[in-house]
Amino acid sequence: MDRPNLLSMTPAELTERLCSLGEPAYRARQLYGWMHKGAAWEEMTNLPAALRQRLAETAEYRIPHVEQKLVSAVDGTVKYLFSLADGECIESVFMRYEHGNTLCVSSQAGCRMGCRFCASTLHGRARDLDAGEILGQVIAAQRDMGERIGGIVMMGIGEPLDNYDNTVRFLRLVSCPEGLNVGLRHISVSTCGLADRILRLAEEDLPVTLSVSLHASDDETRSALMPVNNRYPIDTLLAACRGYFERTGRRVSFEYTLIAEKNDSPRDADALAARLHRGMQAGCHVNLILLNEVHETGLRGTARRSAEVFRDTLIRRGVNATIRRRLGSDIDASCGQLRLRHLTNPAAF
Ligand code: SAH
Repeated sequence: MDRPNLLSMTPAELTERLCSLGEPAYRARQLYGWMHKGAAWEEMTNLPAALRQRLAETAEYRIPHVEQKLVSAVDGTVKYLFSLADGECIESVFMRYEHGNTLCVSSQAGCRMGCRFCASTLHGRARDLDAGEILGQVIAAQRDMGERIGGIVMMGIGEPLDNYDNTVRFLRLVSCPEGLNVGLRHISVSTCGLADRILRLAEEDLPVTLSVSLHASDDETRSALMPVNNRYPIDTLLAACRGYFERTGRRVSFEYTLIAEKNDSPRDADALAARLHRGMQAGCHVNLILLNEVHETGLRGTARRSAEVFRDTLIRRGVNATIRRRLGSDIDASCGQLRLRHLTNPAAF
């Protein structure tokens, strides 16, 4: 029988479990606090040893194991390759910003969305992560770094809205005051554009920032880069984004990765501005990303100078745009690449 993951439980669920073992409710609060700090069973000294042993035998509590850790000499960005209980590997990236530390987390082991430029999807999706495994990345990184993580971006391996229930549960757990207490306003959920799930997320009363990976302004180009566009074409997607904004009041952020000769000309910038004006009306922001070249895809990135021209064209046409700062350039910080290398050449680790 599958043992439940204690890290996936809310305080109320943990209380119920401990009460069913005849323990008082305050034990659940103690345990929750310990686990969310990543403490080992033997560190939880204010819990009776017999209770710890009973829990260890009947349930799962495991913080992801640091398989590999790369530290950027340029800006201190840290990339983790974590292994999970069944040996699956995922990645997280710790980034330092002026306003605090942010962790980029994975939501699935692999991905089935098939975006042509992305390393995470080359071997498909192995499985979903449960909420405790997503949370465990934050706990493990915070413990390893010895520094508080105040922001989270769900931009690692996987499509968060393809693992909807675990993503929403994770968002509730990580923002819980009894646990890590990360403000929902400091969390971004990035999606390749599952329009119906975007509308569902708008109803959850979770004031996170929605980041939508757009990468093209016409259906032909977008479908060639992102197969998901065949199911949810741009008009459908933008309608969902508008719905999200209207329901939550949160400005939607669009990611646009610049790929040489695919979507990076000044004409593409004009077309993008026109489409966003037409489709969004309300406030939005475009985050331009320089392609991290993944050898297997054969796609090439855009020169910095052309990216600046693209940005300036958008701004001139009244669209808020910035080029994303590239952190960890010396450690290949783009998510999916470490896992890919680990899958194809485990002996190198
Ligand atoms: N599945 C989600 C979140 C993970 S990807 C999504 O699609 O949004 C996070 C962001 O990185 C997305 O905008 C994605 O399109 C982009 N991305 C993926 N591979 C990339 C690469 N090689 N170079 C630059 N950006 C990439």
